[in-house]
Amino acid sequence: MSSPDNHPMNPSPIELNHRLTQLSSSLILVIASKARALREAGVDVCGFGIGEPDFDTPQHIQEAAYAAMQAGYTKYTASSGIPALREAISEKFRKDNQLEYKPGQIIVSTGAKQCCVTTMMAVCNEGDEVIIPSPYWVTYPEMVRIANAVPVFVQTTQENAWKITPEQFEKAITPRTKLIIINTPGNPTGSVYTKEELRAIYQVAAAHNVLILSDEIYEKLVYEDAKHFSLASLCPEAYDLTITVNGFSKAYSMTGWRLGYMGAPERIAKVVDSIQSHMTANACAFSQMGGLAALQGDQQCVEDMRLEFDKRRKFMFERISAIKGTKAVKPFGAFYILMDIQSYGLSSEEFSGRLLTEANVVVAPGIAFGDDSVVRLSYAAGMPMIEKGLDRIEAFCAKL
Ligand code: PLP
Repeated sequence: MSSPDNHPMNPSPIELNHRLTQLSSSLILVIASKARALREAGVDVCGFGIGEPDFDTPQHIQEAAYAAMQAGYTKYTASSGIPALREAISEKFRKDNQLEYKPGQIIVSTGAKQCCVTTMMAVCNEGDEVIIPSPYWVTYPEMVRIANAVPVFVQTTQENAWKITPEQFEKAITPRTKLIIINTPGNPTGSVYTKEELRAIYQVAAAHNVLILSDEIYEKLVYEDAKHFSLASLCPEAYDLTITVNGFSKAYSMTGWRLGYMGAPERIAKVVDSIQSHMTANACAFSQMGGLAALQGDQQCVEDMRLEFDKRRKFMFERISAIKGTKAVKPFGAFYILMDIQSYGLSSEEFSGRLLTEANVVVAPGIAFGDDSVVRLSYAAGMPMIEKGLDRIEAFCAKL
């Protein structure tokens, strides 16, 4: 059998796309596959590596999707989403976020991930720069590269609760800056920006004509007196500069349904719609009907999950803070905590690799998020596992 790689007339492999073959595969997935191998070998592994809620999708949402499938929602829909769902999202933006997006400005996609990447494709020209506060969600830099743009990282500090300052933002701006990504509540930091902090960021963006991608996927997971605020709702000018991304994965524990959405100024929404129509077309029809039930149904399920996350957050923060040689910034959102490992003299990859092999605990190395001084623990895991895992981490750190 011949293949393009070994055909006698074609001894050298055919070149693939130079830019996209450079995309890195996720370190988190490497650790996850090592953990899976250990589990398969019968080892009791405590997993804090993953970023998805551990709850089932609420029953009424599942039932709405079964019913939709039986009612014929098994075909293509409008590329940007079923009209009733876009109406419901428009209403959600109005009610929860004080944002007026007409259904025509809303795109329903196969996850917030797709919304982010198509937005970048829609707004960036080759060589444009996108500012990403670091530590960041692993996917942002690669999305920027997919869009043929250039990621520009700005290192945030623990002292400023892992949030970019307006001064840092301004310093990073060049004539090629097109967009800044603001993710609040944040992955992997758990940070929540206040309205005043967002206003200061918006003012810099407005002064330099920079667009803002506001990723609000963890909106519903905020704790204590932290409040989520939507940057686009600051004023009409902020609205015009902002693309607001959200989805169902985290609030309703619907990661596998692949359902997200965005609201954007009309001229941006139009380009995103067109890209999506040629790429994936609509999000799964019956997932969309599940999403409609999620938005229109009782929101107690969201609050129940939030309360459970909050218990775990408090426990994890207290336990980590009590371990000698480490510390953490208290997270007020999402379901992650960054543990400082600087005093142990190991890289984050070495720390997480050894923690896995010597103590059977999975954490995500900070280097995957652009910061080698930390590891990320997700508290999307039940309390018994959190307790056991933290005992192991404490014993492991004591040996270092
Ligand atoms: N944005 C952030 C910050 C995330 O952490 C994630 C998922 O981990 C997403 C977006 C993607 O969400 P979705 O499942 O809707 O694609």
